[in-house]
Amino acid sequence: MQTTLAEPYRNTPEGDVAERILRNCVHCGFCLATCPTYQILGNELDSPRGRIYLMKQVLEGASPTAKTQLHLDRCLTCRNCETTCPSGVEYGKLLDIGRHIVEDKVGRGIAESATRAALKTGLGSPMLFNSALKLGQGVRGLMPRFLKSRIPPTETAGAWPAPRHPRRMLVLQGCVQPGLKPNINAAAARVLDRIGISLVAADEAGCCGALAHHLNDTEASLAAARRNIDAWLPHLEAGAEAVVMTASGCGVMVKDYGWLLRHDPAYADKAVRISAATRDISEILAAERDALATHRRSPPTQKRIAYHPPCTLQHGQKLGGDVEALLAQAGFALTPVAEKHLCCGSAGTYSILQPEIAGALKTRKLGHLQAGAPEMIATANIGCLTHLQSASPIPVRHWVELLDEAMAAS
Ligand code: SF4
Ligand code: SF4
Repeated sequence: MQTTLAEPYRNTPEGDVAERILRNCVHCGFCLATCPTYQILGNELDSPRGRIYLMKQVLEGASPTAKTQLHLDRCLTCRNCETTCPSGVEYGKLLDIGRHIVEDKVGRGIAESATRAALKTGLGSPMLFNSALKLGQGVRGLMPRFLKSRIPPTETAGAWPAPRHPRRMLVLQGCVQPGLKPNINAAAARVLDRIGISLVAADEAGCCGALAHHLNDTEASLAAARRNIDAWLPHLEAGAEAVVMTASGCGVMVKDYGWLLRHDPAYADKAVRISAATRDISEILAAERDALATHRRSPPTQKRIAYHPPCTLQHGQKLGGDVEALLAQAGFALTPVAEKHLCCGSAGTYSILQPEIAGALKTRKLGHLQAGAPEMIATANIGCLTHLQSASPIPVRHWVELLDEAMAAS
């Protein structure tokens, strides 16, 4: 697409990136067919092509309005359009640039700014989030049903094996996951321990920064990235093989540290190193399939599972098929699921900020997931898990917990 950047963006690092991406878009519209918001709203301006056009106008000097901001806000950042696009348009990077410019120029009202600040602070701090969660769980029984469905009951983690193997990997504990589902990382640690890998957490690491990033707070997200890099690098230098992610939403963020910190002379190289060492737990276990096979449950569990691949895994990290293969190898029967490529509507804070669209996508997704009459739904990201569980009549679990239970019974 021919683009003539306006003066403030011409020959700037962000302007150059935006121009390169815009030139790749040939306006073909293939991406409309797989965009969840276009599917739900049917408005071209709520499609990738429409949003690209809006951002192009702004970069060429048009003044963005609250309506421009609304169409960009409604994007789930699911990156389904990137998977579909035949021209390799890096829509996610363009959206980051477009959202920042629009945020600076349009701003937000007091109430909206306060909500976004509260989400950033509350969800990004494990201490604050866990205190609020415990409070909510304490009075959960007295709550009306719609509120109760948003607060999961208290869960406990199973045992986390003490480090005992020469092979070691790091794990990101995350911000909301340890409070909501403490067993997920413990289950990953048990699975890895059985095949000769000890999983350890670096105490100084914290939230990956994705929440702040998606709420356009660049400084806070980069500060989180730098803190995690400082926490993990000494462990990698001492022999830890990888930084393991059990939440694909965090994984896609940490794999992007190298790109996000490319202009920081003190951190650019370190960030590239951390991103290169970062693996989703499915990548680690797919590479250890032979070792896992020796722990296969016999007879196989035969439990019927519907698997929902998070967008951050299939579109953001371009990882598809490993989880299904690992679950099938462990003896689970996977039910067919239509529209696997579509977002469930969770998308970080999206389900809170855009509840109508998120709710419509959740209903649509749960319909497809339950069509094969599964006993359970499995997924790979804490956001999708809690979002789907809030309306699902059957349990929604992280797939690594299911693998752990199957191995424990072998
Ligand atoms: S599919 Fe790619 S090239 Fe075609 S309109 Fe969408 S982003 Fe542009
Ligand atoms: S990221 Fe997802 S919601 Fe946003 S334009 Fe692309 S496909 Fe649509």
